[in-house]
Amino acid sequence: MFIDSHCHLFYEDYQNDLADVLARANDAGVEYFIVPATNHETARQALELAEKYHGIFVAVGFHPLDLKEYTPERLKLIEEMSRHPKVVAIGEIGIDYFYDRSPREVQQEIFSLQIELAVRRDLPVIVHTRDSVQEAIDIVVRHAQNNPGWKKEGKRGVFHCFTGDARQANVLFENRFLVSFPGPVTFKKGEMPDVVKEIGLENIMVETDSPYLTPVPHRGKRNEPSYIPIIAQKIAELLNVPIDEVARTTTANAIALFGLQRDARTLSP
Ligand SMILES: [Zn+2]
Ligand SMILES: [Zn+2]
Repeated sequence: MFIDSHCHLFYEDYQNDLADVLARANDAGVEYFIVPATNHETARQALELAEKYHGIFVAVGFHPLDLKEYTPERLKLIEEMSRHPKVVAIGEIGIDYFYDRSPREVQQEIFSLQIELAVRRDLPVIVHTRDSVQEAIDIVVRHAQNNPGWKKEGKRGVFHCFTGDARQANVLFENRFLVSFPGPVTFKKGEMPDVVKEIGLENIMVETDSPYLTPVPHRGKRNEPSYIPIIAQKIAELLNVPIDEVARTTTANAIALFGLQRDARTLSP
């Protein structure tokens, strides 16, 4: 069994065939889906999906590329939504210095406010970075060290689509964060495969980031969660382990991070 730890199934790309997309994913062994919202509006849409499909769980928060939607009142709304039984994280939050759609100080400030929300609610965070890994690590580590009681028993979050190096990954692991890898791990160019080889399986998850970042050989088309085994297979090859081991470890990591086992109902069909 696999879990797609990051897929944006509320986008229009899926509005005509989401049931088919989920059925194909189930056929491929992908049974649970973590759907991170990008603002208060997509949070509402994601929760509608979670209420309709038992396999879907949600993260709520403001994406760094969507901060034009941010207001303090709407953050209160996000906090209220975070009490929904199918909300399992605050996300996707972070900083993005590639597109730089909002001033960097504003991005850092709203990222921090949302980590504080996660600490208050004792939820993990789903972190987005682009050209900003070290800055984001500095911010989460500061919050983790100031709040030793945050997720006392478990992991505090994940850096999704991790583009840092092994040293940076190890700083995250020491502070009880995971990293996750999507389709680009299958690309010929890029450093992701080398980083996977260096850090190993113990602290990683798999994700598609659907509808983006489609893995080879489907590159150029819409991404979907049924492609998770392609990513897992690539990781298995890089680490020279059976794909079953990748499935077991990454699924156990996702179940533990998102607390999916805390309510027996949530993991039964
Ligand atoms: Zn992202
Ligand atoms: Zn995303």
